[in-house]
Amino acid sequence: MPCTDNHEDLSTCAHEEKSEYSIPMRPAATFLKNSVLTLARLSPFYLSRPHFLSVLYRLYYRLSESESNDGLYLKEGEQGLTSELEDFQNCVRKALTGIHESQLARRANSIAQKIERNRGLGNVGSLPTFWIIELADISPQRVRTPSPSFLDMLRFASHIRLLFRDSNTFTPVATEILDKASLFGCPWSAIIDATRCDEEMIAALLAWHPGEIIIDLSRAARSERDFHEALRRMETFKSRASFPRISWRLFLDRTTLWALEQLASREIPERWRTLHLYLARAYTPEEVSRSLFFSRRLVRELISAFQKSLVSKGWQILFGKPDRPEERQRQAERAFGTVHVRATGSYAPCVGNGGSDDLLSAWDSLEWKEYRRKVCVEGPFFDCPDCEISGSQDVFSVPYLLAAYERGVPSQEYIDAVRCEIDAIEDVSDAREINALVRDYEHKHAHVRLASYPHRMYIEVTDECNLRCPMCTQTVLSGPRRRISLETFSAVKPLLRYVELLHFTGCGETFLHPQILDMLEAVPHDQCKVRIITNGLLLDEATSRRLVELGLQDLWISLDATDAPTFQKIRGSKLFHRVLDNVRTLSRIRRELGSTFPRIALNFVAQRSNIEQLPAFVKLAHELGADAVNVGFLQVYTRALL
Ligand code: SF4
Repeated sequence: MPCTDNHEDLSTCAHEEKSEYSIPMRPAATFLKNSVLTLARLSPFYLSRPHFLSVLYRLYYRLSESESNDGLYLKEGEQGLTSELEDFQNCVRKALTGIHESQLARRANSIAQKIERNRGLGNVGSLPTFWIIELADISPQRVRTPSPSFLDMLRFASHIRLLFRDSNTFTPVATEILDKASLFGCPWSAIIDATRCDEEMIAALLAWHPGEIIIDLSRAARSERDFHEALRRMETFKSRASFPRISWRLFLDRTTLWALEQLASREIPERWRTLHLYLARAYTPEEVSRSLFFSRRLVRELISAFQKSLVSKGWQILFGKPDRPEERQRQAERAFGTVHVRATGSYAPCVGNGGSDDLLSAWDSLEWKEYRRKVCVEGPFFDCPDCEISGSQDVFSVPYLLAAYERGVPSQEYIDAVRCEIDAIEDVSDAREINALVRDYEHKHAHVRLASYPHRMYIEVTDECNLRCPMCTQTVLSGPRRRISLETFSAVKPLLRYVELLHFTGCGETFLHPQILDMLEAVPHDQCKVRIITNGLLLDEATSRRLVELGLQDLWISLDATDAPTFQKIRGSKLFHRVLDNVRTLSRIRRELGSTFPRIALNFVAQRSNIEQLPAFVKLAHELGADAVNVGFLQVYTRALL
């Protein structure tokens, strides 16, 4: 295509160079790409052979990318997948599902999966390879018998993990699954509850030759007797040479933390010394009361000490490390390969996330595509509800521990339980830190019902005032003026331990309240910053002295002018010099008592009548001993203020 720009020297035209180079390539790429697609459509045989699949799939992607200026990834992120790509992926899916020989199916599937994972696309033609199947002791009506298609899909599995969540009985479902696993030559492992792990259960598992048995100690660790009994039972198997690899799993909360120390003191065979460690999440108010989140600093130290002690005895501890470099790869593998089958028969990307009753509808759902895309684009994300399996999140984060927060709006009971725990934290800075974490989380997720306490508080102790400044809402207020009682103030006192800034302000003069000094005495000035805004008229010597003695941090005095006429115009008062004298007195007392508090700031509401005085105002503030000048703008809400 000739360039339409009016160049004098065509040899300098970048457009010409680009067009000469790129245009002939496009039709060739498109032609080749269409040929690959036609071949895939007409002959699924090629896509069912691992080598052909690898070559054709890579070639197709490469050609699609070279055809697109934006690259395939952007096309998918912003506009959905291109139809050609989906067409090709459908061909891949069709070819894969047509393979009945399990080894071939696994190989072809893993090739397709690897290509898709490396390209980071959400839509996939490949099928899940890591199956985590939950077998819970729930009502028989809710347990689905695996459908033939479900069992057939296991031929693509590279590993099956049976999760005996509440029951260690071998249900017919487990038998059917393991029957298929053995038919397809698929390795498998089991997670079983230590409290129900008896000779009969172990014998049933061993009959199917598991690669690994993970003993979950979480329930047993709630009681010392159960814990020791479970370990003793397992120790009876340790002499059996043919026993599979054993590892342990423990969800830590206040009731199970002690078990870490106990494990370190037991004689566990060397090949059994692997521990999968997780922090238990709190789904219910009772679990909140057991959660380690509220003593996270102490817990971090304790866990790290226990970990060190276990590691020194040859244990391998698998505990969440969000900064692991391989985490991205691991999460991507999970997003593209792992499916969780719940006991209710639904399929989901992880234990916590949504799901659907149909495997392929779930696997091809928008949520799952978004999950894959997110992992590839953003890397590992640690506030994923995906909790029990990966153990890779920031294990001390709010979402990890306060699980109900991820299930929508937590109940009032849950919120009360969280508050109760925050209140029970003795150290104020720890309590504030936890409160801030919960608050930030609630803010980020736009929660409307909050468990966190406010960290800033504005109190209007009275709406009466001894002035009627024309720019103040006092001029439009009507009706009797009010004062808050000491009882009302006492009611908010418990919250003050979380408050970083307590601001006495509002539409009224704070020092008109006869008990303001009593209120100030009740405030922990060393823990929270207290600020008062005043017109300065009532700031007599005694009050000033008391403020300095109390350690009040900020006193902002509204002055707005450098001379009496302007002061009278803006603040409607002839007492300009009284305010100046009061500021001088406060500065003097502060000096006499050797304090730098309260920091004095003079307020200046900039408007036509005073704006030219601003430089002189700063000078005046300095002469009066003030530390700062606050300049604000006039809010115009009446015609007179225009
Ligand atoms: S002193 Fe403050 S509260 Fe009182 S009228 Fe003036 S601006 Fe309003």
